[in-house]
Amino acid sequence: MTFSLAIVGRPNVGKSTLFNRLVGKRLALVDDQPGVTRDLREGAARLGDLRFTVIDTAGLEEATDESLQGRMRKLTERAVDMADICLFMIDARTGVTPTDEVFADILRKRSRHVILAANKAEGSAADAGVIEAYGLGLGEPIRLSAEHGEGLNDLYSVLMPLS
Ligand code: GDP
Ligand code: MG
Repeated sequence: MTFSLAIVGRPNVGKSTLFNRLVGKRLALVDDQPGVTRDLREGAARLGDLRFTVIDTAGLEEATDESLQGRMRKLTERAVDMADICLFMIDARTGVTPTDEVFADILRKRSRHVILAANKAEGSAADAGVIEAYGLGLGEPIRLSAEHGEGLNDLYSVLMPLS
């Protein structure tokens, strides 16, 4: 059985970097898929022997009249409703921000399976942020470095039983 994983989180935490790492060059053609817009990018992911669909959320980066919180809520709810599992990403170097808290709140209420990932976790500069992430109430954070490909074994261990 396969599953779908949506990567959500505030801009610049590294969602697309992880998406690209999981998908490689196998980016799905999304233009003619109903329900998939520029805000949600879908790809065929590979992690060890796992094959799944990964959804990257963007669109929060674009400035519009609507508030960031309003757009976050809508986009996150769409991603959560589309996907079996949500990977909520924070930037461990920055630590938990008020925007992260809003995301965590939406996800605690909405999603059945949430995986918490503390990204940019290469090196000890991320240690404090990883510890802060426990405070989000979404369980133990996975230490990831999407850019350096670290922590993917831990991501695998969490995804494997859900597959
Ligand atoms: P998104 O807005 O959440 O999709 O974030 P991006 O994937 O576009 O990444 C934002 C920035 O963070 C880019 O400059 C990335 O190179 C950088 N970045 C992503 N992952 C890591 C990581 O694991 N470690 C570090 N140090 N930087 C990262
Ligand atoms: Mg992105």
